[in-house]
Amino acid sequence: MPGTAAFEERIRRRLVELEEAGLRRVLQVPSGIDLSSNDYLGLANHPRLKQCMAEAVLAEGCGSTASRLLRGERAIVSTVERRFAAFKGMEASLYFGSGYAANLSVLTTFLERHDLVFSDAQNHASIVDGIRLSRAKRIKFRHCDIDDLARRMRSTSQDTQRFLVTESLFSMDGDFAPIDDYAQLCRETGTVLIVDEAHAVGVYGLRGSGRIEGTGCAGGVFLSVDTAGKALGAAGAFVSGPSWAVDYLIQRARPFMFSTAPPPSIAAALETSISLIEDEPERRQRLESLSAGLRASLAERGVNIGRSTSQIIPIILGDNERAKAIAVELQQEGFDVRAIRPPAVPPGTARLRVSVNANLTEEILKRFADAVQRVTQCSVVSS
Ligand SMILES: *Cc1c(COP(=O)(O)O)cnc(C)c1O
Repeated sequence: MPGTAAFEERIRRRLVELEEAGLRRVLQVPSGIDLSSNDYLGLANHPRLKQCMAEAVLAEGCGSTASRLLRGERAIVSTVERRFAAFKGMEASLYFGSGYAANLSVLTTFLERHDLVFSDAQNHASIVDGIRLSRAKRIKFRHCDIDDLARRMRSTSQDTQRFLVTESLFSMDGDFAPIDDYAQLCRETGTVLIVDEAHAVGVYGLRGSGRIEGTGCAGGVFLSVDTAGKALGAAGAFVSGPSWAVDYLIQRARPFMFSTAPPPSIAAALETSISLIEDEPERRQRLESLSAGLRASLAERGVNIGRSTSQIIPIILGDNERAKAIAVELQQEGFDVRAIRPPAVPPGTARLRVSVNANLTEEILKRFADAVQRVTQCSVVSS
């Protein structure tokens, strides 16, 4: 009979298996130059954000004390939701405690059991999990490949409600989905398009609202999911779209209904983030030029950066142990880069995920590129 001792033994064996595969994670407090956070605009430590959040704590308290359906609702949250909807050019927005909860909510609320959902092969775990929980049938298509997508669409029934879910900028490869072409294809096929702008909001588009704005396809998008813990520098996520959809989320999204509302002070900080993004485009312009510079200098040095065309620049190394060893060497030189291994990326594509932020300088990034060249060419890792 399996008992608690056998159970502990099983888990210890699993940990050893992870260790042996080079997949055991340890939590590591940041030190050194930030080349791995998603704080792309450097807003997380912006004095105005900190000030607004601190003042809101003093005015509103720490916790929200309940679900928003009960005593957890605050005026400041609905104010920032209206502000964000206008920023995205959508009718309404709903704020969630995390992007993970937002994706779970959207997918489990709108997808029903017999629906079909086309999902990019590299979509984020929160999208994959949301689809699983929805019980809709998932049809995975090749990463950013509209021909593969169109072919799979043609071979499915017109009579079924169909959805397409994609990130607009992919978190591990740093490449863009052709969302404007997807919007066109969705229009032609009656497919509902959901776009996750986690890494694009704040960074792309003339007003900084993301790739939907940047590619001019807002009219073809049903919902946008925009996380607020990355370029926006705080926490949580907005889901934006037609007001009837937001109304339905309030009625049915379980991660929204059965979870305590996030602290109201975060909403106060987010109002400031939106203002800074609207009023100070120079931050995203600087990010763009620093990113282009780093991509070029890594490529010049013969480093494999995959398909990146953004501020997310993978350095693809392949082997798990090698990725880990190279990350450690670069950390010892003062650069905070992290190894990304399966299941976050496909097996055999372990990498460093380098992300540029607007607080860096050309000089730092040049030193970093030199260091990468040195350690990737010299390091011999036994496995
Ligand atoms: C980070 C991320 C999420 C989850 O957002 P959190 O606010 O961190 O929970 C969702 N989708 C994508 C593409 C992400 O990169």
